[in-house]
Amino acid sequence: MNYKISKRAASLAPSLTLAIDSKAKQMKAEGLDVVGFGAGEPDFDTPIHIKDAAIKALNDGFTKYTPSSGIPELRQAVADKFKRDNGLTYKPSQVIVSNGGKHSCYNVILATCEEGDEVIIPSPYWLSYPEMVKLAGATPVILQTSDKTEFKVTPEQLRSAITPKTRLFILNSPSNPTGSLYTRDEIKTLGDICVEKNVLIMSDEIYEKLVYDGAEHVSVASFSPAHYDHTIIVHGLAKAYSMTGWRLGYLAAPEPIAKAIDAIQSHSTSNPTSFAQKGGVAALNGPQDHLAKWLAEYSKRRSYAHERLNKMRGITCVNAKGAFYLFPNISALGLKSADFCSRLLEQEKVAAVPGIAFGADDYMRMSYATSMANIEKGLDRLEKFVQTL
Ligand SMILES: *Cc1c(COP(=O)(O)O)cnc(C)c1O
Repeated sequence: MNYKISKRAASLAPSLTLAIDSKAKQMKAEGLDVVGFGAGEPDFDTPIHIKDAAIKALNDGFTKYTPSSGIPELRQAVADKFKRDNGLTYKPSQVIVSNGGKHSCYNVILATCEEGDEVIIPSPYWLSYPEMVKLAGATPVILQTSDKTEFKVTPEQLRSAITPKTRLFILNSPSNPTGSLYTRDEIKTLGDICVEKNVLIMSDEIYEKLVYDGAEHVSVASFSPAHYDHTIIVHGLAKAYSMTGWRLGYLAAPEPIAKAIDAIQSHSTSNPTSFAQKGGVAALNGPQDHLAKWLAEYSKRRSYAHERLNKMRGITCVNAKGAFYLFPNISALGLKSADFCSRLLEQEKVAAVPGIAFGADDYMRMSYATSMANIEKGLDRLEKFVQTL
C-alpha cells in the first residue's frame, strides 16, 4: 500500500526533543539513574482546591458537552483575570477557552494566516511555532538572536523583516526556551512598530506569573487602544497552576478574530473537557498563594544552576528573568547541540534538550523544574562530562 501523506503533514520537522525524551525514558525503564533536565512542565502538584473543584464537577454529573468556546463562568473568569492583572477589558465573547495554550496558538495562526502570508518568529523559539505556521500554509520568517542581546530581537531587526506579506509577529515573553523577558519599553517599541506597519501580534504570555527578582511582565496589548486592537493574547493554566495534563488554555482577541476561532474550534475539537473547566474557574478565581512558594523555590534553583553553569569549562550562561529554563551557550566545547545532548545522556545519564530544536545550535536547554537534589546531581555530572571534551 502506498500511503500518500499530505504536503501539510509531510512538511513538519520531526521532533528532536522526542528522540532524546524517548531515549531517556527507555534508559529509566531499564533501571538507569537518569537525571531529567528536559521537562517543560512544573514539578509541583496541582493545588488541592483546583482538584477538588474538578472532582466535585465530576461527582455532580458535569460530564456533558459545554459551549465549544468554554463555559460562560470560565470565560468570565478569564476576562476578570485580564482586568485584574493587566488592566485589560475583554468581553467574555472575546475569550476562547481551548485544550491548552498550544491549541490556542494553533487556533490563532489558523484563523489569521494562509498561503502567501509571512509570520515573524524570533529565535530561539518555542519549537511548535514554525511548524504551526507551516501547517497553516504560511511561511515562518526567523529572526536570529543570541545571548549577546539576552535573546531579544531589536526594533531594527523587526522593522527590516516586515514586508507587505507579514501577517503576524509572535512574541513570547517570558520565553521558552531562554527564560528572557522584555522590559516595558522594549515591548512597547516592538508593539509600536507592529501598529505602524499594521502587523498582528500573537503574544504568548503563558509564563506571565513566573518572573524573578521583582521584574515585571507587561502585556503588549496594554499600551494603547491601537496596541490592543493589534494583539491576540495566548495564555493558559498549565504553567502557573501546574495543570499541564488538564489541557486548558485560553486566548483573548479582537471580536472578529475570536468569532473566527470560535467557528474553527466548533468544527474541530469542540469544548475543552467539561470538568477540567470547573477546575480552571477555581484556579483563576481562587487563592493564588501557591505562587509565591513556587517562585521562591524556582528562584533558588535558578541562582544555583546559573552560578554552577558559569563556572564550568567552556560554558557561559545568561541568567533567566522568567519561566523555568536556562539556556547555556555550549559552542566553545566544539560539539553540535544534538551530539552534545546525546553524548551527555549516554555518558552521564543527564537528559537536556539540544538548542537546535529551538533554532539555536550553540546552546542547550536546561529546565530547573525539578528538585534541588536532582539539579545538584545533574550539574555534577555535566561538569564531569565537559571535562572529557
Ligand atoms: C507550555 C507552553 C505553552 C502551552 O502549553 P499547554 O500545555 O498547551 O497549555 C504555550 N507556549 C509556550 C511557550 C509554552 O512553553
